[in-house]
Amino acid sequence: MTERDSKRLLTGEIDVVVVGAGFSGMYLLHRLRALGLSTMVFEAAGDVGGTWYWNRYPGARCDVESMQYSYSFSPELQQEWRWQEIYAPQPEILRYAQHVAERFDLRRDIRFETRVESARFDRARARWEIVTDRGDRVSARYCVMATGCLSAARMPEFPGVETFRGPIYHTGHWPHEGVDFSGQRVGVIGTGSSAIQAIPVIAEEAAQLTVFQRTPNYSIPAHNRPMPPEYEAMWKRRYPALRARAWETRNGIVYDLNDQSALDVDDETRRKIYEQRWAAGGIPFMAAFNDLIINPAANETAAEFVRQKIREIVHDPETAAKLTPTSYPIGTKRICVDTNYFATFNRRNVTLVDVRKTPIEAITETGLRTSATPYAFDALVFATGFDAMTGALNAITIENDAGERLADKWAAGPRTYLGLMAAGFPNLFMITGPGSPSVLSNMMVSIEQHVDWVVRCLKDLRARGAVGIEASVQAEDAWVAHVNEVAHRTLYPQANSWYMGANVPGKPRVFMPYIGGVGAYREICEKVAANNYEGFRLLAPVAAAAE
Ligand code: FAD
Ligand code: NAP
Repeated sequence: MTERDSKRLLTGEIDVVVVGAGFSGMYLLHRLRALGLSTMVFEAAGDVGGTWYWNRYPGARCDVESMQYSYSFSPELQQEWRWQEIYAPQPEILRYAQHVAERFDLRRDIRFETRVESARFDRARARWEIVTDRGDRVSARYCVMATGCLSAARMPEFPGVETFRGPIYHTGHWPHEGVDFSGQRVGVIGTGSSAIQAIPVIAEEAAQLTVFQRTPNYSIPAHNRPMPPEYEAMWKRRYPALRARAWETRNGIVYDLNDQSALDVDDETRRKIYEQRWAAGGIPFMAAFNDLIINPAANETAAEFVRQKIREIVHDPETAAKLTPTSYPIGTKRICVDTNYFATFNRRNVTLVDVRKTPIEAITETGLRTSATPYAFDALVFATGFDAMTGALNAITIENDAGERLADKWAAGPRTYLGLMAAGFPNLFMITGPGSPSVLSNMMVSIEQHVDWVVRCLKDLRARGAVGIEASVQAEDAWVAHVNEVAHRTLYPQANSWYMGANVPGKPRVFMPYIGGVGAYREICEKVAANNYEGFRLLAPVAAAAE
């Protein structure tokens, strides 16, 4: 079954269906093929790349350094690819994904522009029946959801959206041909990572930019620059050792963690350390001390340092005050990394509106209306984020043989064993699912770890003559309890973040990713596999047929 753009419907039996052709789905396909398993990937987009296919907004780039935000599985690939900047922009990451697709001849087993609508498990046959929006109907022994944690873009339900006469863009669904804002009055809703990257670039082009902010964010300068050749050479020389080190870290990124409490040094030393981290830029700011995410007093020292920076950068004290986060600890919402974000508010063509004080009441024909003022715009940009971690999964009707739906099982919050499988849903894997380090990490590291684990698992199942694997309810309960317990030892649950589902009205407030750390988590997964897949039950062919 190797049809790509064919209009012919796909039917029949294969070993594995993978949903999604971002970095997870692409690597899965490569590994599953090598295992000799027949594999078909379904992808809603027109090409590979996932996040980097969809998020083409101005300023989009990664905030994990390019030398680390890349695949490690192929020594040749990591040697031959040349990143142009410390933090690669979206077009370069997309080109990289396309290069990988070509280099490993992936596209011939990917059916693009095809959305998986449902997956139903037939226990008697130990097979998933997958149905797509084209009408394909494929039976697969295993189904792997590589659907992405940040792939279900979210449009808040403001009344009147359909009445606006100009274009409305979402950062997560940006037009391929780009957008020219020259001479336009533009409104941006949201001030998360996407908005923080887009705002400085749009501000340079638009005649007027109005930013509607509900919650201010902590942001650290990226200090992005062209890739220094000696830095690239150092990484390439030491890749095996540095990649291995990343696997052992908390978040899959190699950088210096200062293993000292922020409260164990005097004020002057602490300030110096923060200044050095600010000058170096990026996510490693949060590794200035070892207790920033667990100790409120330690956290406050870092938060106050960043607040002071905002006050120094932003000239107008009222605007600076609006931009200053005070309602949650630093780092408990995804820390942002920017290029000129705060300074952009010194521009005469940029205005900040606090919609916590004066909420957006409606989108109008000519712009939008807050509780205080009507605004006129030529274009609106929604940088309003995603139904994270569960959104893309719950959009698919995933049903087991008892008629239970995954979305119903997760009504009070996602429940998984290791973020890899959910009890009651055999042979269905998730890549970077809720309950795994996932979005708290360099995702490339977590993706590769999950794919490697799943592939090894399928190989072991085949070697043992099993036709499937299922997480036990007890193992899942214990894992969910552990995930919660670890999360509540930190300050993370104090913020209304998308990690907590707080950005989607009605979504249960549960801390979704596993915060125990990439290194510790990898060890647990390894032990589980080595221990005869402890917490899982293997399905024997006879048992599967008899049930
Ligand atoms: P995705 O890239 O999201 O791919 C999932 C694919 O599945 C999508 O193409 C989607 O169309 C497809 N899909 C979903 N549902 C269906 C369906 N029902 N049928 C068919 N296809 C479906 N992570 C980092 O570690 N560092 C960063 O700097 C970073 N920057 C980011 C910047 C942005 C703007 C965003 C949104 C995310 C960023 N991330 C970052 C997280 C990023 O999502 C991951 O790094 C990584 O790209 C995820 O890859 P994936 O393949 O798991 O998922
Ligand atoms: P986000 O962090 O969820 O930000 C969404 C923004 O929209 C928030 O400011 C939110 O305000 C606001 N918003 C949502 N609904 C609103 C409403 N009804 N009224 C007013 N404001 C509303 O989404 P994102 O910026 O797209 O980022 C999502 C994640 O993707 C990031 O956290 C990160 O993991 C990843 N990402 C990474 C990068 C990078 O630097 N590499 C770039 C972009 C994205 P509240 O805060 O009040 O909810």
